[in-house]
Amino acid sequence: MNATCPQCAEADQTVAVPRALTDADRPLDQPTRALLSAPSEPAGTSGAAITLFILAGLLALLGLRGLLSHDDRAGSDAAYQAGYNLGPFLFATILLTIGFVVHAVSRRRRLRTAGPQRQPREQYQQLRRLWRAAWLCHRCQVAFLPAASIQPGFPDSPPIPVAQFPQWLAATAERTVGTGTPSS
Ligand SMILES: [Zn+2]
Repeated sequence: MNATCPQCAEADQTVAVPRALTDADRPLDQPTRALLSAPSEPAGTSGAAITLFILAGLLALLGLRGLLSHDDRAGSDAAYQAGYNLGPFLFATILLTIGFVVHAVSRRRRLRTAGPQRQPREQYQQLRRLWRAAWLCHRCQVAFLPAASIQPGFPDSPPIPVAQFPQWLAATAERTVGTGTPSS
């Protein structure tokens, strides 16, 4: 059964947000899609660390390809040959190490700025719960939460313009984390 839109009081144009994003019959435009997309995890691996891990992986592949291609160079000595074969692996190891250090440093910094009482992990889980429970009205271009959407007694939301959806979702998650119901 569809949820009833709080703006037009109809249910014929409403669809759950996660379903709206994958609905091939009624594709959303790109800005709407971006605004409604699933919230990303806050304490993930940093972009710089991911780039380093990818580079290390590519280098290791390159090294493997060099090993497998067997291009024995006539006239090159054993030391050169070893360096040629093992160089990419050595470089990949160095990049991996740097990647782990970058990851650890940025993680520690994030934990410090978040503070112990902010519960970033729980807040993110609440964010996901709210996002999964949210609905979209195609007619009004508003998002909303039906009553008792994430647990019994959880109040319904007013219609939220799609443009304000990410901020509203984050604010609601912060307000309701740990309690399940908003404290007013
Ligand atoms: Zn509506």
